Amino acid sequence: LTVLGLESSADDACAAVVTSDRRILSSVVRKQHHINAQFGGIQPREAHEAHIRTMPGVIAEALDTAGVRMADVDAVAYTRGPGMFGCLSVGVNSARAIAAASGVPAVGVHHMQAHALTVLLTEESPPAFPFLTLLVSGGHSILVLAERLGSYRILLDTLDNAVGQTIDKVARLLRLPHSHAAGLGPVLERYAAAPPLPPYDAAPLEPATLPLGRERAGEAALSFSGLYPDFLVRSLYPDIDGSAPPEAMQREVARVFQTGSFDHLAAKIRLVMRRLETPVNGLVVSGGVGSNLALRERLRTMLDEVGDTPVPLYYPPVSLCTDNAAMIAWVGILRLEAGLRREPLDLEIRKQWSLEDLYDDVPASCY
Ligand code: ATP
Ligand code: FE
Repeated sequence: LTVLGLESSADDACAAVVTSDRRILSSVVRKQHHINAQFGGIQPREAHEAHIRTMPGVIAEALDTAGVRMADVDAVAYTRGPGMFGCLSVGVNSARAIAAASGVPAVGVHHMQAHALTVLLTEESPPAFPFLTLLVSGGHSILVLAERLGSYRILLDTLDNAVGQTIDKVARLLRLPHSHAAGLGPVLERYAAAPPLPPYDAAPLEPATLPLGRERAGEAALSFSGLYPDFLVRSLYPDIDGSAPPEAMQREVARVFQTGSFDHLAAKIRLVMRRLETPVNGLVVSGGVGSNLALRERLRTMLDEVGDTPVPLYYPPVSLCTDNAAMIAWVGILRLEAGLRREPLDLEIRKQWSLEDLYDDVPASCY
């Protein structure tokens, strides 16, 4: 099978061509950083309009790069949710119109299922079901149990902010220097890893000085709001609104904050893993924060402690951990191979859609 995938659930307009023998013939991602920078974040209306402008060109580029014409394409897969309605509608409508005109099936895909199953596309020897997927990014901090192709359980979610969002806030508060191209996460990682400067080399701050918002022993939930070291930084450095703190403090707060948040993540994952009835075949880590080396080390140590048999860790390449359409095309392929023939062209767009209610509105006659 050769499948064209479209993704437009948030601010990236993406198109890709993927084959059932796991070849990514193309994967085009058009970001909207410049627009977001102008408005201080994703604006639904602006993002929607940008998708209308860019999506046709992105689709043409994906087909062109792959060297295929629509006559070679067996189906069009698209993100049906969850996401921002206007943004989603551009990809949904483009995909269905192309599919209708070419006489091929259109397949609606759950965005988070696609993140969870990327590893089946990218790994030489991927984990068998059941396996865990941790998605840690600017918008998500969730741990999902992938039981089967069509069955998922959300084991952990955040009660407030996502870990990446908090990392960005802290880095901004500390006024860490950064370039727009790289983002703030890698900068915070670099400061956290740098050796402590006086006076902190002799008297380090304790991660415990950063109380977690709703860290409650035994509760399977994440919380990052209490990690805001706003008050900590202010008490250490009252002039924070006037000037950037000295580098010694930037390094130390970055380190303490990063350690505290990753310890919290690791502790909660361990908690839910201990409660699992069946052993899992791996932990797949994706999302921008997953590229952090300190997090990778922390997770490795945690997994070594959690059970008798070591649980392998998987990290799909960063370009496929963040939003892309190759993962959407891939889930389209998996669903078609599992027996889906076609879906109605008027299925509801699901801007809110739990991973635990997958495709419950697709009529049985479609299989
Ligand atoms: P989503 O796709 O969930 O809506 P997003 O677009 O922010 O959110 P990503 O691009 O996957 O998703 O992740 C970006 C986030 O990852 C940012 O918050 C960034 O600071 C963080 N990040 C990137 N690299 C690192 C790193 N090395 N260490 C820590 N955080 C990082
Ligand atoms: Fe995503």
